[in-house]
Amino acid sequence: MSSKNRIRFLKTISFKITLWYLLSVMGILLFSGTFLYFRLQHKLDKKADQLIMDEEEELLLTLLDKDSTLNDLNSAIALEFSEDRYYKLSIRLLDAGGKTIIVSDNFSVQDLETSEIAVTKAKGGESVFQSVRVRERKYPFRLLTKAIDQDGSLKYILQIGLYMKPLYKTIENLKSNLLILIPILIVLSIAGGWFLARRSLSPIENITRTTQKITASNLNKRLVPTHTGDEVDELANTINLMLGRIEDSFVRIAQFTSDVSHELRTPVAALKTGTEVILSKERTAEEYRDLLENNLSALERMTRMISDLLELSRSDSGTSILHLKSFSLDNLLNELQNKFRLISETKNINILNNELPDIQIEGDKNLLRRVFSNLLDNAIKFTSHGGSISISLVDRGNDVVTCIKDTGIGISEEHQEKIFDRFFRADSSRSRDTGGTGLGLNICKNIVELHKGNIQAKSKTAAGSTFEVILPKNPTNS
Ligand code: ADP
Repeated sequence: MSSKNRIRFLKTISFKITLWYLLSVMGILLFSGTFLYFRLQHKLDKKADQLIMDEEEELLLTLLDKDSTLNDLNSAIALEFSEDRYYKLSIRLLDAGGKTIIVSDNFSVQDLETSEIAVTKAKGGESVFQSVRVRERKYPFRLLTKAIDQDGSLKYILQIGLYMKPLYKTIENLKSNLLILIPILIVLSIAGGWFLARRSLSPIENITRTTQKITASNLNKRLVPTHTGDEVDELANTINLMLGRIEDSFVRIAQFTSDVSHELRTPVAALKTGTEVILSKERTAEEYRDLLENNLSALERMTRMISDLLELSRSDSGTSILHLKSFSLDNLLNELQNKFRLISETKNINILNNELPDIQIEGDKNLLRRVFSNLLDNAIKFTSHGGSISISLVDRGNDVVTCIKDTGIGISEEHQEKIFDRFFRADSSRSRDTGGTGLGLNICKNIVELHKGNIQAKSKTAAGSTFEVILPKNPTNS
């Protein structure tokens, strides 16, 4: 494995999971092994003490008997220790002066100094248990030293010892079994950890492989969900939803680009053809003037469209900033009513002089002016001579409803849901005559939604249209 691959391997989650798995197993083994070891040792020490105490009880009967002679004692001890026992006990009996009276062959604690302290303590009336290490013996002795009084004065000092070999062998067995078991468990935990990590991460590897193959040209490709309802399944579904949204945006961007090129190509082609025709022969000054005037109005329309597109791309990228300020909505609508009355009069359209209630709202006045200008402009554009337009304003507490109603050509039901789409014009030839770009209502919708409001149209063909704009009085609270 090259050093680059090794570093990559060490960074993989599979490796990290295996390592954690191994460390946890080792921690558990270490803890439980140590616990077992010391617990067993403690138990065995207690067992040894119990064995010694049982023996002591037996001997005390003879030792405390006033009539018993040294011979009686010897034979009692010989009887006690003659039995072929698994646990070999040894004994030493000292007189009050510390001189040995009786000692069994297997009493190995010859080093009296070791038991000196115990003897002193025993004289003070204590039963003293000690673990004593003896030279050339691998295992310790458990030794009880006890003073035996008769008629209020010290008579004997009894020492019973137990060589711990058979008991400690049990601990050693445990130790050697653990030493065999631990490496096996370590190997098994590495294999188990690796297997589990690979198994649980393999669906993620599938996701990685599939997503690596997704490019702009195959954005319709989706990950295959596992339907297991687990985190990986949720991840696949989330990525699929995200791909869906990205695909949607791609389609919209592609559609938008082709719409923009189409919309700009027509007036540019008209400009080119018109200019070529005029230049094909000598023209009068009047004809050149007509051409330039036509060109100017086409350029004006294109300029309007380009600024509309810029506005839309700003709101698409989320960089449109609202300059919220409190202002009087009725004043704004009255101002627009007066402005558009001049234009409407040229078409003999009457803008009704409705009394509007005083309403203050928080909003971006310039952007909202644009919304209502667009709606009034459309109302005039799509209303024939002799029609009328009315503006109403209703205070609903937290929000305000503005309605702009006309008696114009109306919008068919099938077109009503599309009029807020970009470049949509119910009748494009007519709209082009009126200078429409099909972007106005889309811009209105964006601005209203930026204010957390809502815009909708209610209309019937040939019966006029009503555009309803609902705005919260304070968008920051909505
Ligand atoms: P345009 O620049 O064409 O007016 P808009 O986005 O403002 O673009 O409007 C889109 C289309 O919605 C218009 O072309 C027209 O077909 C329809 N429309 C908008 N307002 C009205 C109205 N008041 N009456 C009838 N049709 C309307």
